[in-house]
Amino acid sequence: DNAFDIVVVGGGSAGIGVTASLLRRQPSLRIAILEPSTKHYYQPAWTLVGGGAYDIAETVRDTANVIPPGAEWIQAEVNGFTPDNNLVHLADGRSIGYRQLIVCPGIRLAWEKIEGIEETLGKNGVTSNYRFDLAPYTWSLTEQLKNGKALFTQPPMPIKCAGAPQKAMYLSCDHWLRQGVLDNIDVEFNTATPALFGVADFVPPLMEYVKRYHAKLVLSSNLIKVNGRDRIATFEVKDSSGQVSRVDKPFDMLHVTPPQAAPDFLRNSPLADASGFCEVNPQTLQHARYPNIFSLGDASSSPNAKTAAAARKQIVIVAENLLAAKTGHELKTIYDGYGACPLTVERGKVVMAEFGYGGKLLPSFPLNPTVPRRFYWQLKVKFFPWLYWNAMLKGREWLTRSTGAN
Ligand code: FAD
Repeated sequence: DNAFDIVVVGGGSAGIGVTASLLRRQPSLRIAILEPSTKHYYQPAWTLVGGGAYDIAETVRDTANVIPPGAEWIQAEVNGFTPDNNLVHLADGRSIGYRQLIVCPGIRLAWEKIEGIEETLGKNGVTSNYRFDLAPYTWSLTEQLKNGKALFTQPPMPIKCAGAPQKAMYLSCDHWLRQGVLDNIDVEFNTATPALFGVADFVPPLMEYVKRYHAKLVLSSNLIKVNGRDRIATFEVKDSSGQVSRVDKPFDMLHVTPPQAAPDFLRNSPLADASGFCEVNPQTLQHARYPNIFSLGDASSSPNAKTAAAARKQIVIVAENLLAAKTGHELKTIYDGYGACPLTVERGKVVMAEFGYGGKLLPSFPLNPTVPRRFYWQLKVKFFPWLYWNAMLKGREWLTRSTGAN
């Protein structure tokens, strides 16, 4: 039987990290990582790139260089699962067998849900920090804009890093304020959600910044169409009675956060729940129906904030529980839903939102977490990227239980 001990679907933040962690625990494990991309990205820094505070080249490395020594990289795209036969199917027609499976292919950017956007992204003032190739365009638009209208959008949940849509606005506004042009720029944040941020404790300090930048906040307003040539964005706006109307807004700059969804091959498989994500027990991260399958990162159904910070905590949960399951032991490592969103409210200051299931605050430091701090900016810009490449992707867990943010 040439099945692998463990097959890992997706070599992103979660997949590389959990493989490294497992191999540190048991170097003899035969693990395959199925990952089609030749590049591995540190996405949390793309917000900084869009704000002119980070070099895009520092956010990418060759996949070949992040595959943990001892693991086998199969460069292929997965397109299905037959969990009853312990098989993963590849787009090239091959099937790979496993004893235990880890599902972590991330979340899909569903651009097709916004009519007309794909042909105008990267030109006509339309940008997104959610793509490696476009984050630098956000900064060049920010630098060029001296007057006019700047729109920032946030789609319905779930999205990865739910703070990122507003972080883009804060960093652009901070630049315009420093350049003395903010008074000539009409800034608007349209979010499809009913609140500015999902955890109520963080809303007041964020609203202070919305006010400081004279930004208009429009809730329950969902971007559905972009006409790039004429620079018009169309929103579906829900009023308090639930009535939906369409509103056209002209723009000079438009920062779009795309709607997001579970990858189709996962959604259409027996592993998915009704939402399309991989159905796990939120405490143990073991699959609800297949005990030899685990899932973590953005593709998992656990109701945490989809962040690299969450993945970093989940790596330990999955590694320990998967090895326990392998030997028939009880799953003892319990996930509290920790996730973190460092909100870059201005260049040089961050509100560090760290919280678990149910919005419970889980600060890593004994400081009031709702206060913007310079110290957190330093962590975000210097320490977290270092921690990502040198600890999280290498299976080094010395800080995982104390500081969890990315
Ligand atoms: P990913 O890292 O996205 O990896 C998924 C992998 O699966 C990819 O390599 C992909 O190629 C692969 N894959 C996809 N389809 C298939 C397939 N069919 N077969 C095989 N492999 C496949 N997190 C934070 O903690 N803090 C932040 O400040 C922060 N800011 C962010 C800002 C932005 C703009 C963005 C985009 C993200 C941000 N995040 C942040 C979120 C963070 O990047 C993700 O939560 C994290 O990368 C999730 O890890 P993952 O492994 O689940 O997914």
